[in-house]
Amino acid sequence: MKTLPVHTRSRTDFLDITENVQAAVSELNIREGLVTVFVPHTTAGVTSNEHADPDVMSDLASALDRLAPWKAGYAHTEGNAAAHVKASLMGSSVRVPVTRGRLRLGTWQGIFFCEFDGPRDRSVWIIP
Ligand code: ZN
Repeated sequence: MKTLPVHTRSRTDFLDITENVQAAVSELNIREGLVTVFVPHTTAGVTSNEHADPDVMSDLASALDRLAPWKAGYAHTEGNAAAHVKASLMGSSVRVPVTRGRLRLGTWQGIFFCEFDGPRDRSVWIIP
């Protein structure tokens, strides 16, 4: 397993970590199979989606804001309930096929770290 450090820049931030995951796959010498990208946080997640047009992730951020507004009478008193909701909507892991040592993603797919309560220093675990 390998830990990738991630530094997010704002409360909501989508970081394209595709190349970092590929580098970890190479370092771990994963040649064939599936790699799991796991986020060990409760107010951040991970997803795969289009990384060609940045408007896609910006639209996703807006849609998540509509689904889980920052203030909405939540019971969780820490003040970041919306971030917990969004993290669960995105999920805490993605699994990606690996062929001949390369991530087997679709043409337009990238892997995004999804921050919902930043900026913070975070981690991503790459698990063979
Ligand atoms: Zn909380």
